Amino acid sequence: MNTSPKAPPPKGPAPRPGVLSVAPYVGGESAIEGLERVVKLSSNENAFGPSPMTMEAYARLAPDIHRYPDGGCKALRRALAAAWNLPAERIVCGAGSDELIALLARAYLGPGDEALYSEHEFLMYPIATEGTGAKAIKVKETNLTADVDALLGAITPATKMVFLANPNNPTGTYLPAARVRALRDRLPDRVLLVLDAAYAEFVTRADYTAGSELVEPDGNVVVLRTFSKIYGLGGLRLGWAFCPAAVADVLNRMRGPFNVSSAAQAAGAAGLADTAFVAKVRAHVETWREWTAAEARRLGLEVTPGVGNFLLIHFPRQTGRDAAAADAFLKSRGVIVRRMERYGLPGALRVTIGREDEMRTFAAALADFVRRG
Ligand SMILES: *Cc1c(COP(=O)(O)O)cnc(C)c1O
Repeated sequence: MNTSPKAPPPKGPAPRPGVLSVAPYVGGESAIEGLERVVKLSSNENAFGPSPMTMEAYARLAPDIHRYPDGGCKALRRALAAAWNLPAERIVCGAGSDELIALLARAYLGPGDEALYSEHEFLMYPIATEGTGAKAIKVKETNLTADVDALLGAITPATKMVFLANPNNPTGTYLPAARVRALRDRLPDRVLLVLDAAYAEFVTRADYTAGSELVEPDGNVVVLRTFSKIYGLGGLRLGWAFCPAAVADVLNRMRGPFNVSSAAQAAGAAGLADTAFVAKVRAHVETWREWTAAEARRLGLEVTPGVGNFLLIHFPRQTGRDAAAADAFLKSRGVIVRRMERYGLPGALRVTIGREDEMRTFAAALADFVRRG
């Protein structure tokens, strides 16, 4: 036992300040011991899997995987530029938006700096921030929704970055375009606003945009998008950033020369072209999200109105009826959802919208849990 007041410095190489204060990201579980078939609703993956067109493009590539990928992702960036009506030279692709979040943090943050994120926001932001030695500042939300005034009020001379997931994961709530613009308008020029629009394709509200219109050539707003959610390519790791010219330049200097695999580039371009698949997934998610929310509310549970491909369901505090008990019961029925302690929401579970049969299985298990003696 170490009885000295201060632990001796560890032997061997020490990482930079901040690295050891990072709590490793814990992904959703994917298996239950003793069960062969599980309903996995824990990672916001696509209910239908990848589109047939992306799988074909992926398979077609097999004879060429000895070749290095196009380090500039030219064809994919051209396709993204055409699909979203954006200039290709200000698009930078990454191995998932996670890589782009990490690169932005490493490029713009260091010891003494602060980055803001809102109370129940995606945990990759504090993880990426703290790894640079900068401080991640958690800012209060209102009704489980990012609070623009609170974010602006938390700005100090040390603030270098503000993260905003819109819609947010795990709450599912979003800020209308006018509120995001108000945030941008009142932000000092030196602060980079990172708008993470991972779930943008699911949102059907008229007052929502992903925020690309706020990304000016010489501005301070970056929008992040991903192929992991509506395109169903989480396993291939593909995301992209639409940036001011100077930020695109910085990301291109920081990233690895071949950071996006040829498989991801080919499948991503095919997924972008498969607009019918995207429309099908969006319509399915909307229908079954509202159905699932109604089922949970009918059981007396509170559901946060969400606009992504998942829902946050709240449970009473009472032992045996709380979120932990619900999670255990669902697991006994082969249904895996996500516990929310790490997001400061111990009373809630996050449920991904899966296929119809999966949602019916989930709802039946939830009803049995709530109604049991
Ligand atoms: C899932 C998710 C992402 C996507 O991350 P990838 O690295 O692209 O798979 C980004 N941001 C949020 C808020 C997410 O929930």
